[in-house]
Amino acid sequence: MNTTIEELITALRNVLPENQVTINQTILEQHSRDESYHPPSLPDVVVFPTTTKEVSNIMKIANKYKVPVVPFGRGSSLEGHVIPYNGGITIDFSLMNKVLEIRENDFLVRVQPGVTRSQLNKELKKYGLFFSVDPGADATLGGMAATNASGTTSVKYGGMRDQVRDLEVVLADGTVIHTGNLAAKSSSGYHLNGLFVGSEGTLGCITELTLRVYGIPEYILAARASFPSVNDAVKAVVSILQAGIPIARVELVDEHSMKQVNMYSKTDYKEKPTLFLEFHGNEVGLKQDVEFMKEIVANHNCESIEFETDNAKRNQLWEARHNLAYAYVRGYPGRKLMVTDVCLPISELAGAIEHARDALNSLGLTGGIVGHVGDGNFHVLLMIDMNDPNDIKRAEEFNETIVMYSLERGGTCTGEHGVGVGKQKYQEKEHGKALLVMEKIKQALDPNMILNPNKILKMK
Ligand SMILES: Cc1cc2nc3c(=O)[nH]c(=O)nc-3n(C[C@H](O)[C@H](O)[C@H](O)COP(=O)(O)OP(=O)(O)OC[C@H]3O[C@@H](n4cnc5c(N)ncnc54)[C@H](O)[C@@H]3O)c2cc1C
Repeated sequence: MNTTIEELITALRNVLPENQVTINQTILEQHSRDESYHPPSLPDVVVFPTTTKEVSNIMKIANKYKVPVVPFGRGSSLEGHVIPYNGGITIDFSLMNKVLEIRENDFLVRVQPGVTRSQLNKELKKYGLFFSVDPGADATLGGMAATNASGTTSVKYGGMRDQVRDLEVVLADGTVIHTGNLAAKSSSGYHLNGLFVGSEGTLGCITELTLRVYGIPEYILAARASFPSVNDAVKAVVSILQAGIPIARVELVDEHSMKQVNMYSKTDYKEKPTLFLEFHGNEVGLKQDVEFMKEIVANHNCESIEFETDNAKRNQLWEARHNLAYAYVRGYPGRKLMVTDVCLPISELAGAIEHARDALNSLGLTGGIVGHVGDGNFHVLLMIDMNDPNDIKRAEEFNETIVMYSLERGGTCTGEHGVGVGKQKYQEKEHGKALLVMEKIKQALDPNMILNPNKILKMK
């Protein structure tokens, strides 16, 4: 940093009200970590802008003094994304939390980046609409766009990149741009929406988002299907997808994770490899699809299937699934969470999960397997003892083993969590020369390397 903290704070207080600039130790600590095992590190100052203009002014100051800036949504990311390893300013977007416009006839909504997914859905329900992307944490839409998050419904509706029509972005020098428009399609210019979604705060600060929303389906049917093995469950999913059954959600939870679900959510679900499924549509059409689905799962040794049409029971089921990572965290006090996140072509998924289970066993690690299996994406949740270097080493070795397995089969090291610092070491192997293109984009948009430095790409 080319300036003192005092000079920086004075400059920030010239453009922001005093209560929106803080060096309070508790607040610095809250912004020093994410929800993962990555070690914390303090920012020098945290700011809470309320308008795009304020964000632009903050960026002008940061750029002038060459001070690192880390955008911060909810801090629920899992690869060290928001940890300010180079100090500097953390921009917390929690005060930019307004739903600005609901264009119900266009199925579009315009929001500030600090709006959370559940806040938005509460608002949309009044219009018979919903927003589809639902990561386990109640993340902010700014953070979700910045990580290209997805969730249980992505098999039908897609991830964040599929929902974004337009972003307002403040660039490193304070310039404000829009990356898209309101039209359903466009062939005009480079696809900047696609570039900024998933850029993890390294290219700009998102200050507004225009997103697609959907009508709440006329009929929703959820089910839990238990299988003798994870392999049977995964093969059943592949067959369901190959049969073209329009499934809206299909989540795998292995037996170890079902135990955590029951303990945390006070449910009494069978502790066997289980698929949580959901179908959206009209009653008559869905009944046919479900009969076909029942035949398919029976062919894959399904032991039992239970349906939930009742709203409360259905919500309980999905809440239990969403709370799974928290169930692990509570179930292993004192330990830290490492979550793997590979995503592969669907035909490779069963083999990849079997390989992960074998690798877990041979390294003597305890971990639960869960996944958005309809997308070819699965996670292994490991609870690490940070005081035991051997435990950390084995977990990292395991993570690397399954990443390599995925990359060798045309997959990715991260299906939805993003790169942060944790997945940086795999970028060259995954992207080859395309990584140089990414570096050039970063240099062009952020020549002083102030925006979330050393995330995704290592500074040279
Ligand atoms: C229990 C649990 C379950 C999870 N389940 C899922 C899941 O199912 N699917 C999934 O995809 N993820 C999941 N995650 C990871 C996490 O919730 C997502 O990555 C989420 O998108 C992060 O949102 P956030 O608001 O917490 O962002 P943060 O963690 O605060 O930030 C994430 C990244 O976005 C950047 N950023 C934040 N706001 C902005 C902005 N306004 N402008 C520019 N950059 C910004 C940050 O700098 C950082 O790089 C889970 C996490 C937990 C703890």
